[in-house]
Amino acid sequence: MSSGRVYVTRRIPAAGLERITAGGADAEVWPGAPDEVPSHHDLVAAVQQADVLLSLLTETIDAAVLRANPTLLGVSNYAVGYDNIDLQTATAEGIPVGNTPDVLTESTADLTWALLLATARRLVAADRYMRSGNYRRWGPQLLLGYDVSPGGDGRRKTLGVVGFGRIGRAVARRARGFDLEVLVCDPSHRREIDDEPGVRWADLERLLALADFVSLHVPLTPATHHLIAAPQLELMRPTAILVNTSRGPVIDEAALVAALREQRIGGAGLDVYENEPEMAAGLQQLDNVVLLPHIGSASRGTRDQMAIMAADNALAMLGGQPAPTCVNPEVYESARFGQRLASWAAVRGL
Ligand code: NAD
Repeated sequence: MSSGRVYVTRRIPAAGLERITAGGADAEVWPGAPDEVPSHHDLVAAVQQADVLLSLLTETIDAAVLRANPTLLGVSNYAVGYDNIDLQTATAEGIPVGNTPDVLTESTADLTWALLLATARRLVAADRYMRSGNYRRWGPQLLLGYDVSPGGDGRRKTLGVVGFGRIGRAVARRARGFDLEVLVCDPSHRREIDDEPGVRWADLERLLALADFVSLHVPLTPATHHLIAAPQLELMRPTAILVNTSRGPVIDEAALVAALREQRIGGAGLDVYENEPEMAAGLQQLDNVVLLPHIGSASRGTRDQMAIMAADNALAMLGGQPAPTCVNPEVYESARFGQRLASWAAVRGL
C-alpha cells in the first residue's frame, strides 16, 4: 500500500482512479470541464499539493512545474509519448517519469490502418455524400480512390513505415493482409530490419520516393521535428498518401497543406496536428484529407488499461519504488532522487 496524494490533471477512466484508491493513495482530479485543460498556473498550484502528478499529453510539464515542489516523487504520464514533459529537467531534478507503452500499440495500429483505408478509398467524402442526399444512382466514376491491395491493375503497392518501434511494427504486420511491399526506415533498428522477414530497409528519401503510403511512427524529439517538410513532400509520388498517427510537429503542416492543395501528393490522413487542437490554415477545406481528433488509442479497453498502467506507475512512485514503465530509469541511481525521497519522508514525519 502506498499512501500519499496523486494529482490527476484531467479526468481519466474510473479504472485508473479506483486503482489509485485501492492502492491506499488519494486521487484528486483537476475540476475543469472535460474539454478544458489546466492552465500553467493551475499546474504549478497542483504540483505543490501533490506527491505524484498524473498528467495527460495536453499538459506541458515544463521546468517551472517540475521545480514547483521539491518533494514531488514523480510524474506519471497517461500516454506512451512524453514530449509534453521536460525530461531533461525531470532527470536532473531526480524526478522519475512514467508512460503507458504497449497497451495502446494494437489500438493505434488499427486506427492507423483505418485512417489509411479511409483516405485511400475516400470513406469520409462518401459518407458525407450519402448524408447530403446526393446519391441518385450508381456510377462508374463515383468517388474514385486508390487501391491498397494489388486491385484490378495487379500492381503490388508499397507501404513506407517511418519508425519501427512498437506501433510501426504492428502497422507493418497488418500490411501482409493487403499484400503490400513494406519499406522501413528507422536508423536505430537497421540490423533488425535487415533480418526481419517481409520488410526491407530504405533510407527516408528512398522510402518517400517509392511508397504509395507513408505512415509515421516516430516519437517527437528535436530530431524528428518537421521530419516531413517541403523537401520531403517533394520526393513523394503524386498519388501517395501520407498518414500521421505519431505527433503533429513531425510534419510541417503548412507545407503539407500546400502540397495537398496543389495535388503534389494524393492525400493525407491525420490524427495529430502541429498546434493541436488548431489546424493549419486551409487544411479543413481540402477534399483529399481525412482528419481525426487524436483518437489513436481511443478504444474503451485500451484507455482503461492506460489508466491502470498510469496508476500503477504513480503508486510505485509514491512508495519510492521504480515505476514499472519509467522513461528515465537512470534517475533511480541518482543522489538527487535519494535526497528527494528523504525530504519527502522528512516532511511527512516518516
Ligand atoms: P517506440 O519508441 O516503440 O517507437 C518509436 C521508433 O521511432 C523507435 O524505434 C525509434 O528508433 C524510431 N525513430 C526515432 N527517430 C527516428 C527517425 N528520425 N527516423 C526513423 N525512426 C526513428 O514508440 P511507439 O510506442 O511505437 O510510439 C510511437 C509514437 O506514437 C509515440 O512516441 C507517440 O508520440 C505516438 N502515439 C500516438 C498515438 C495517437 O493517439 N495518435 C497513440 C500512441 C502513440
